[in-house]
Amino acid sequence: MAFQHIKLPTDGQLITVENDHLAVADNPIVGFIEGDGIGPDITRACLRVWDAAVAHAYNESRKVHWCEVYAGEKAAAIYDGDYFPQETIDALQHLMVSIKGPLTTPVGGGFRSLNVAIRQELDLYACVRPVRYYTGVPSPLRNPENVDVVIFRENTEDVYSGIEFESGTPEMRKVEKFLREEMGARMFEDSGIGIKPISPFGSKRLIRKAIRYAIDNERESVTLVHKGNIMKYTEGAFRNWGYELVRDEFKDQVITEEALYSKFGGKQPEGKIVIKDRIADIIFQLMLLRPAEFDVLATMNLNGDYLSDAVAAEVGGVGIAPGANMADHVAVFEATHGTAPKYANQDKVNPGSLLFSGVMLLEYIGWKEAAQMITAAYTKVIGKKVVTYDFARQMDGATEVSTSKFADALIEEIAEAGAELRKLEIDRDRQREEARKAREQRRMSQPLEEMLASGRRPHTVGHLMRRRNLICSADDTVAGATRMLRQEGGSSLLVAPGADDEWGILTQTDILKRIIVPDKSPAHTKVSEVCTKPLKTLPIETSLRECARFLVENNIRRVVVMSQNEPVGIVSDTDLFDAVDEFGWGHE
Ligand code: NAP
Repeated sequence: MAFQHIKLPTDGQLITVENDHLAVADNPIVGFIEGDGIGPDITRACLRVWDAAVAHAYNESRKVHWCEVYAGEKAAAIYDGDYFPQETIDALQHLMVSIKGPLTTPVGGGFRSLNVAIRQELDLYACVRPVRYYTGVPSPLRNPENVDVVIFRENTEDVYSGIEFESGTPEMRKVEKFLREEMGARMFEDSGIGIKPISPFGSKRLIRKAIRYAIDNERESVTLVHKGNIMKYTEGAFRNWGYELVRDEFKDQVITEEALYSKFGGKQPEGKIVIKDRIADIIFQLMLLRPAEFDVLATMNLNGDYLSDAVAAEVGGVGIAPGANMADHVAVFEATHGTAPKYANQDKVNPGSLLFSGVMLLEYIGWKEAAQMITAAYTKVIGKKVVTYDFARQMDGATEVSTSKFADALIEEIAEAGAELRKLEIDRDRQREEARKAREQRRMSQPLEEMLASGRRPHTVGHLMRRRNLICSADDTVAGATRMLRQEGGSSLLVAPGADDEWGILTQTDILKRIIVPDKSPAHTKVSEVCTKPLKTLPIETSLRECARFLVENNIRRVVVMSQNEPVGIVSDTDLFDAVDEFGWGHE
């Protein structure tokens, strides 16, 4: 492809796609946009660090060949006032992988944000934001090291589709009339109206990307974040399409959280990712209280907007949070902050956000060793309290350095420590694995408590049932059975199949009806004579509503939960009542 102003490095090779995967040579060409304001300062510094890490990680056998692409003020100077030339779009597409500094959004004159324009022109439908803690970075949390998530936020639908009608305009009146008269909608006078489309196509391609990332990077789980309890056909549908996608495309690699508890007793099978979902408001609380339980998060646009900034703030990282906008293969990595014009050309600001976007880029092209080196070097430099002005003002005893000196410090660590730095990262991975095992142990030993504490609402009888089943034999005496009940503190006993091969249940009501009222001797009556058969059972995946209907229709107070033809627990009307009290019901 021929360009007017962009010069492709002659000794680099283009990144291509083969069999749905990136094909990256040892000398790939990668695009970069310097950016406006502080962009040149941070880009200059980061390019040096990325190159040093690659050179050291691969003994000079690999090298990125950077290709400058123009957008923003630099583009306007080169392309006669065009801030976002067609050539730039073509190049970003052609090069496949690029990184950009922040761009000024020109004010007035009908300019759209350049960042939005890049996303739209290249259909970069996933905004990816990894958020993790780096030792030494100032954070408001007590244990910020537990935060390590990657947020996949949908970039094209929801509020970003921009379908809005201003209060009082003829367009708004037309939509209002339609909604009121034809759809029976109710709203206050003169309401501005926004429309939030969520499609199966848009949801699934985003969730697919999140799941693939989780598989490729050996992450533990993918959580679908939604407000489906209120908006069933948009937010709820996002969740449902996610589960549908798993059934259709990932059934060998992914299990649901439901199956994790009901089928695997809380133990995550080797090599399988768990898919779960959480209500949007609860995820904010959980990301503060139990962040270690979350890993990859897939969200619609608006929820993800709030969540990614909130979670980044938890680890003190709004200033260093990296990001990328991605299509199926084309990806543009970017600093998530703006151009901070007051600091332009002062060699002052923190290059962290762009630096870690570059780390993401290196991971994306499969150069994980170089990425690990930068991350580890960063931890070491910050550990020595060598920081730029923004961190210095939050730390006691810090040494404030310029952007370029901070880059020098990183390069020194990379050059001196090399393999040892990678070991630091590997140690961290090992600690993560140990924490994962500890969580698994807790899930296995106290599943209901863990499930509830981790923000999961019970949906099925399997979630609510009491697993501790007391079982007696049909030939036991009633006296023996009642003693067992009292000793164990239960109110019913399962009766193992006798000659009739059928399970039964012995409840306190059976004792009242069939021992006390007819005045029989418990010591001389067999359990088989007084227990209730056949057992009323429900499959473990029965919904709570179905269960309630079953209890009411059969005029019973408890039902036995079955899994693979075995009774595995009991659910009572009291359990359902408690669940409604604790979690609410329906539209809450
Ligand atoms: P901003 O550029 O992000 O700056 C806001 C403040 O954040 C700065 O004054 C500074 O805080 C801090 N900050 C930003 N980057 C920093 C860094 N690398 N190191 C340390 N501190 C940093 O936001 P803005 O002033 O609202 O926006 C300025 C321009 O950037 C606008 O034209 C906007 O459209 C554009 N923008 C571009 C992008 C993008 O390209 N992705 C994103 C957002 C905004 P202190 O003043 O406290 O030191």
